[in-house]
Amino acid sequence: MKLADSGLLKNRAFIDGAWVAADDGATFPVTDPATGEVLANVASLGVAETRRAIAAAETAQRKWQSKSGKERANILRAWYDAIIANLEDLAILMTHEQGKPLAESRGEIQYAASFVEWFAEEAKRITGDVSHHPQADKRIIVLKQPVGVCAAITPWNFPAAMITRKVAPALAAGCSIIVKPASQTPLSALALAALAERAGVPHGVIQVLTGNARMIGGELTASPVVRKLSFTGSTEIGRTLMEQSAPTIKRLSLELGGNAPFIVFDDADLHNAVEGAVAAKYRNSGQTCVCANRILVQDGIYDAFVDALAARVSKLQVGNGLDPQTVQGPLIDEAAVAKVEELIADATALGARVVTGGKPHALGGTFYQPTVLANASAHMRVAREEIFGPVAPVFRFHDEADAITQANDTEFGLAAYLYTRDISRSWRIAEALECGMVGLNTGLISNEVAPFGGIKHSGFGREGSRYGIDEYLELKYICTQL
Ligand code: ADP
Repeated sequence: MKLADSGLLKNRAFIDGAWVAADDGATFPVTDPATGEVLANVASLGVAETRRAIAAAETAQRKWQSKSGKERANILRAWYDAIIANLEDLAILMTHEQGKPLAESRGEIQYAASFVEWFAEEAKRITGDVSHHPQADKRIIVLKQPVGVCAAITPWNFPAAMITRKVAPALAAGCSIIVKPASQTPLSALALAALAERAGVPHGVIQVLTGNARMIGGELTASPVVRKLSFTGSTEIGRTLMEQSAPTIKRLSLELGGNAPFIVFDDADLHNAVEGAVAAKYRNSGQTCVCANRILVQDGIYDAFVDALAARVSKLQVGNGLDPQTVQGPLIDEAAVAKVEELIADATALGARVVTGGKPHALGGTFYQPTVLANASAHMRVAREEIFGPVAPVFRFHDEADAITQANDTEFGLAAYLYTRDISRSWRIAEALECGMVGLNTGLISNEVAPFGGIKHSGFGREGSRYGIDEYLELKYICTQL
């Protein structure tokens, strides 16, 4: 891998300001999903190293919280500048380890950096309240204080943004944070830590533990020193981490699986709806938690929509993400391909029709054809499960009530998308949808200014926005007698 700054390619973990190997020297390979090439052998840590990181985080946090908001803001801003200055290297690194097209990697680095910029600004604006007391001679003062030592466990689909979205508000609030990145994509996390070090983030305030998820996660959740865990990943692992966090009554933010409906009414602008569906479905090869999972289309526009979507999707260029022509890279691993194959086999056995795609791509490896399935229905697995691949099942609905019933017929509640030109209907439906985020006539909803998060089995807590910092702050009320 060729980077302008080879110092960004790290294969050791980052504990208390030092780049460390595992105590027993163990490593694990990180591979390029487009080529199968081993990019690095990265330190595989366990329990003992995690304990040392927790101790360092505790010491570092006390000093960090005693800095002013402005001082923390300046350091975060320097980190933001360092990320932007190294955008191209970070994007190349990400495409190598994750597979997404270089243009998407560049977009993710911008997006990741935007959280650092935003929370650098918010660090200066942590304010409490003073209010009257029911008794005339008393006053109520409310302070906001950092939660303390935090942990972040992050997934492979957004190797940079899922880290900064947690780390930046934690640092802004005065917390230290230990990051356990996904084992498929630790290199982006380590590069971000290297830039944080250069930007002057003190030792122990950000640490990155690579290696065994169960051992590291088990230790982070069991520790009474770690006061908060922020997790992005599957509902299944989120549930486990919630259970593991119960004995120490940790604060939690959980951003879990999704099953987003993408609802297209007869009155929608067909071209915009197709473009929105492509953006919401095939970005990152369908491997995002806010990807359109079920495309629900009204009777009157159904056939036209399926034809237009299939025509557009069949032109998506599949290939190595480093090739500038590529708009869809490989899937992350063989298990992801196997799941996509199973879901398509299940759907077609139950009456779905493959309109385009439906097979592994001729490039081999984990490349898969962008796929559209017509005649999808509620009893298929694609209706219930998070697909996490480039497969768009198109369902049919009759009227508003039917659309809402189908859209909400899932345990998940992360994102939903709605295409209509009727303003009253858009309000009615957006309010009736059981989810945390709605895209109205748009397939792209994520940015640092908006509160990202879900309800139901998609988790709780919000990231980004002016609300995001509250996840890392406690309220303390002081009652004052005059
Ligand atoms: P995905 O399907 O996106 O990989 P997972 O929920 O399996 O989602 O993984 C998300 C993150 O959780 C990854 O960093 C993974 O290493 C971590 N993880 C998986 N299992 C555990 C566990 N038992 N304890 C702690 N972390 C875990």
